[in-house]
Amino acid sequence: MASSVYSRSGRDDVTIKTKALVIREYIVGESDKYVTLFTKDLGKIQALAPKAKKYSGGLATGTQLFVYGEFMLTQYKDTYRLLSVDILDMFHDLRKDLFCLTYSSYIVEFVAAVTEEALVQEELLLLTLITLKNLSQEEKRLRLVRRIFELRALSLLGFMPQIKKCVDCEVFLTETEQTTYDFHVEAGGILCSNCQKHYIHTLKISYGTLYTLRYIMATPVERLFKFEVSEQVLKELEHISEDYRSYYIDKSFKTLDFISKLHQLEKK
Ligand SMILES: [Zn+2]
Repeated sequence: MASSVYSRSGRDDVTIKTKALVIREYIVGESDKYVTLFTKDLGKIQALAPKAKKYSGGLATGTQLFVYGEFMLTQYKDTYRLLSVDILDMFHDLRKDLFCLTYSSYIVEFVAAVTEEALVQEELLLLTLITLKNLSQEEKRLRLVRRIFELRALSLLGFMPQIKKCVDCEVFLTETEQTTYDFHVEAGGILCSNCQKHYIHTLKISYGTLYTLRYIMATPVERLFKFEVSEQVLKELEHISEDYRSYYIDKSFKTLDFISKLHQLEKK
């Protein structure tokens, strides 16, 4: 726990310092606010931010959605109370465009849904921060950035698809650009040409999509977003990611409805 400092200030409450991202905020009563923090050292926690609604500056600024900073908190039993925030990044640019804001809201809604209280998930936090950074800089690539995030996050959550060998007989897949591959969501990966005959509802994907999936699973997070794909590969990735996420993460997301509505309006 290198970045956190624990010290005892009273008989029972403890002061904690940790880096964290605000993934949810909600008002309680007249002036207080609760925030859900995705922290580096404590996983997901809820914290009370006293007077954060009423007064500008201080905790009001530091407890807005998407703020990443160094948070000082006191802990008493299961309750965290926010003392101060040293803001490192506010991700201001996420608010410059409605599409960008909606995609970013989905990212943090997803993270809030899949993380567990007090379970440290440092790599998922890093992935989330880098995804938000990319969304803020790449308005034209929102669809791709979202799918890269989802597929890598699912892999970090223990649902990495098998894409090197057949998910049934485990034979290594032969690779040629002319071949199409059969992805099976429930089986959890690619099927070879022999095994696919025994399955229904496979998703046909191109070599380019298989190659992209492998890149998304294996590349260090810092370099993860540095590529382009064709519209066909993007559509196949969207299809896989959509079906894969709904099968393995049994949750609905409010922001996804909003994303669909925005894209429908765009087409009109
Ligand atoms: Zn097989």
